[in-house]
Amino acid sequence: MGNIRGFLDFKRVNFKKLDSKQRIKNFKEFSQALSKEEQEIQGGRCMNCGVAFCQAGLIEENKEIGCPLRNLIPEWNDLIYKGLWEQAYERLDLTNPFPEFTGRVCPAPCEDSCVCAINGASVSIKNNEFAIIENAFKEKFIKISKPNLNGKKMAIVGSGPAGLACGYRLNELGFKVSIFERSDRIGGLLMYGIPDMKLEKSVINRRVELLKKSGIEFHCSYDINSKEKANKLLKDYDGVVLCTGASKAIDLNIKGRNLKNIMFAVDFLTMNTKSLLDKNAPNDLAKNKDVLIIGSGDTSVDCVAVALRQGAKSITRFERSPKRPLKRVQNNPWPLKADIFSTDYGLEEAIAVYGKDVRMYQKLTKEFVGENGFVKGVYASDLKREAINSKMVNVEIANSSKFYKADLILLAMGFSGSENELKSNFNIKFDEKNNILTNDYQTSHKKIFACGDARMGQALVVWAIKDGLECANSIYKSFFA
Ligand code: SF4
Repeated sequence: MGNIRGFLDFKRVNFKKLDSKQRIKNFKEFSQALSKEEQEIQGGRCMNCGVAFCQAGLIEENKEIGCPLRNLIPEWNDLIYKGLWEQAYERLDLTNPFPEFTGRVCPAPCEDSCVCAINGASVSIKNNEFAIIENAFKEKFIKISKPNLNGKKMAIVGSGPAGLACGYRLNELGFKVSIFERSDRIGGLLMYGIPDMKLEKSVINRRVELLKKSGIEFHCSYDINSKEKANKLLKDYDGVVLCTGASKAIDLNIKGRNLKNIMFAVDFLTMNTKSLLDKNAPNDLAKNKDVLIIGSGDTSVDCVAVALRQGAKSITRFERSPKRPLKRVQNNPWPLKADIFSTDYGLEEAIAVYGKDVRMYQKLTKEFVGENGFVKGVYASDLKREAINSKMVNVEIANSSKFYKADLILLAMGFSGSENELKSNFNIKFDEKNNILTNDYQTSHKKIFACGDARMGQALVVWAIKDGLECANSIYKSFFA
């Protein structure tokens, strides 16, 4: 252990962020990493706890405790403190095949479970992870070799984080891996569901090039959308892994839903990224519009950030829940992931531009209102929390309905499971939540496996990576154990 007083002697220093009004001028990443020396000091804040909750990888009360991948966090923190960056990369690489993704987009449940976070600032685990992998790319620590083949061929359908992780591990285990992606670019939600400000697309392409060099084949614009295509895959390969995500977006089927300019958030984000990649210019759907975003997760924040950059006249975000508490409350103790009020990057930018917080809480959208076929606003009521049968639920307040002006509405209410066509095309069973039913990653068809959101339902990128790795291990056992 390098410095047993590090958590007392060194203060947490975050990556610097470009000023909100500056960074919304383009779609580039805006965090500025610390120098190597500054980051080494951040590694020294780790206490090397006897029981390191940051790497527990558990779920309690529906909340994470520590890193789902069980990254060896205290070890690599200490290694960077000692300036041993290559060894730090080697330890990180043992558990996480894509730290450049998690180091950018993970909400870092590890930091909420850090012992330093009990009464102060956690160790900057996510930034340390980012620094280790970016330094590894820079210093060419990453070695790629083609493993010896074991004679089995696997087809992976879907190239999001679960598909890439599963392919990576299967390839390591000697399978000949082909990944099929229906979109025109590899990456799934990483490519089109997360904007460049959080994850520049060159970062995905850089990793895909390494995966290609290690022997994985990629096929873009290849949709397995019929029984014939599914049967061909099953005939040509020893097994098929479905990593197709939870792509069925939750809709809001209320009066006026058929009006124009009401769309799913993921389609809005996809259009923008595609335009940036194909035309080197953003889409301008939100330009000069009053934008209403319905939903409160990370995707809604991304929509705020993209709409701002497109030049929205105003932005409002509706949430059904009340404003979160500023501190942990009794039923959300450490080391669970903290469920507290925070202002993520897009919301921070909106406050800088419009001079006010764009969030409106406890709103229930009742009706979309239009003119000449285009949406012009919504009627929404207020909600209150009430105990019914000892359970706190949202209850609509009578006569509270008001009109809110909006000429672009983005539905960011999450996803409700897998696409139904998979069921019939591959002849597999789904569970009651519309996810693919599996037993140790095997579906009801013995040659077909599933992992990631398609199996678990919508989850964090870090969980999708973990699921992909574990699925590959399970596939290996099913062939060779
Ligand atoms: S993957 Fe996420 S939870 Fe795990 S160490 Fe990195 S930031 Fe923390």
